[in-house]
Amino acid sequence: MSRPDSDFDAIVVGSGPNGLSAAVVLAQNGLSVKVIEAADSFGGGTRTKELTEPGFLHDVCSAVHPTAAGSPFLSSLSLNKYGLEWIHPDYPVAHPLDHGQTVVIERSFDKTLDRLGKDAKNYRNLLKDMIDSWPFLAKDIFGSLRNPKHPLSLARFGWYGMFSAKLLSQSIFDTPELRAYFAGLAAHSILPLEKAFTASFGLILGISVHSVGWPIAKGGSIKISEALVNLFTELGGEVELNRRIRDLRELPDSVPILFDLTPHQINDIAGFHFKKTFSNKLKAYKYGPGSFKIDFALSEQVPWENPENAKAGTLHIGGTFNELAYSEREVWKGNHPEKPYVLVAQQSNFDPSRAPKGKHTLWAYCHVPNGSTKDMSIEIENQIERFAPGFKDTIISKSVMNTVQFEKYNANYIGGDINGGAQTFNQLIGRPVLKWNPYKLPYKQLYICSSSTPPGGGVHGMCGFNAAKSVLKNEFGIKIDI
Ligand SMILES: Cc1cc2nc3c(=O)[nH]c(=O)nc-3n(C[C@H](O)[C@H](O)[C@H](O)COP(=O)(O)OP(=O)(O)OC[C@H]3O[C@@H](n4cnc5c(N)ncnc54)[C@H](O)[C@@H]3O)c2cc1C
Repeated sequence: MSRPDSDFDAIVVGSGPNGLSAAVVLAQNGLSVKVIEAADSFGGGTRTKELTEPGFLHDVCSAVHPTAAGSPFLSSLSLNKYGLEWIHPDYPVAHPLDHGQTVVIERSFDKTLDRLGKDAKNYRNLLKDMIDSWPFLAKDIFGSLRNPKHPLSLARFGWYGMFSAKLLSQSIFDTPELRAYFAGLAAHSILPLEKAFTASFGLILGISVHSVGWPIAKGGSIKISEALVNLFTELGGEVELNRRIRDLRELPDSVPILFDLTPHQINDIAGFHFKKTFSNKLKAYKYGPGSFKIDFALSEQVPWENPENAKAGTLHIGGTFNELAYSEREVWKGNHPEKPYVLVAQQSNFDPSRAPKGKHTLWAYCHVPNGSTKDMSIEIENQIERFAPGFKDTIISKSVMNTVQFEKYNANYIGGDINGGAQTFNQLIGRPVLKWNPYKLPYKQLYICSSSTPPGGGVHGMCGFNAAKSVLKNEFGIKIDI
């Protein structure tokens, strides 16, 4: 039986990685904190379930965790003591191309350079300094961009990052292989690759391959959430499940409330307290394209044409730069590409606990227009089959989720947007609205701590950390930093 809300010093609504991170920070600083979660299990976008067959563990949402491994906050927590173990696949990422070619990027920068031939020098010149300064850079990128602590490293990142992925890759790389690889990284932005600042997504992910790796969690992504909850409860925190907050009046009005929710949801819950101008800004907040996902139970490993691909944790499927750029442009325009850019993770190749002996799981999704109900199974399977002939014959069963099912699963995925809002330039600098402190909402002690705040989508907990830092300073006069 859960203790009454009024017993607590602060309430967090939503138990995604940002909600849990915010809760941990507040509890670490002596507050008694309750997390209220609508679903019957905690973790938001960081959960693992038997979606297909008994014994096959599928990451329902997040699977691969460069941002968690590189998060200044999460890496300060020693989550290994609370059950989290990272597994680093042999290769973090591979980008298959036609005729059995593939771009393999190793965690070792030098070994990668040895593979890159003509583009090795360009790759080195672009990334070496930023990889070396990553420990400082990460704090500025993931922290509050408004007060950079290492302006020089940030300026270098900002110079390259402000370009479109198309312009940067064309001006830096000579080979179609490296251009295609950079497109695969930058397309995580879910934006057309001709848009300014899409290069920044490619850079962050490209740097992280070498600085922290692209690990998966042993036993599934749920282990990240479990570790955070284990730490949180050890600090005296409480998580209440199966309780959806619909109206602010359901919560005490004398303590800080942190919403791990997106702007439209917050406006529905508390909008009647905001001035009309602020409420209109929340309503005007834009959500980006959605995702269509398939989880496969397989009878064997994917039969990649190039066997090197079996050693990569993540694969970016879709071919050349132009093919990926076309796919993302089409989605942005509201169309469903016939040959989508597909993100693939093959966790069971590196973590035997994910599937019965000899069997395998495969995690795959592509971008689709917001609100789409189209079944993209055939398009996704055709793309994988293109680089792995015989793949379709290995499928034992599958589970699919379109954008409507995603939103039903987690109310934060509005129209299937998995990043808490489009990550356009305007919504990166003003997330959720343009304000010096984006975490404070203009009513009493209300805050927002979800991926709809800087630094945006991904499992890193830094939105939660930044919001909690603001709560501690504003409401309790406690100053913290990492
Ligand atoms: C298919 C997919 C693949 C992804 N892959 C990756 C990946 O590989 N790596 C990566 O880093 N990130 C990935 N992500 C993104 C990542 O999962 C999100 O960015 C992250 O979970 C956002 O965390 P959050 O805490 O802001 O919100 P969420 O994780 O969305 O958590 C919000 C929580 O709030 C709860 N909630 C909503 N409304 C209410 C309410 N009214 N009352 C109470 N509770 C409520 C929800 O049930 C949910 O538990 C992926 C996401 C998806 C969907």
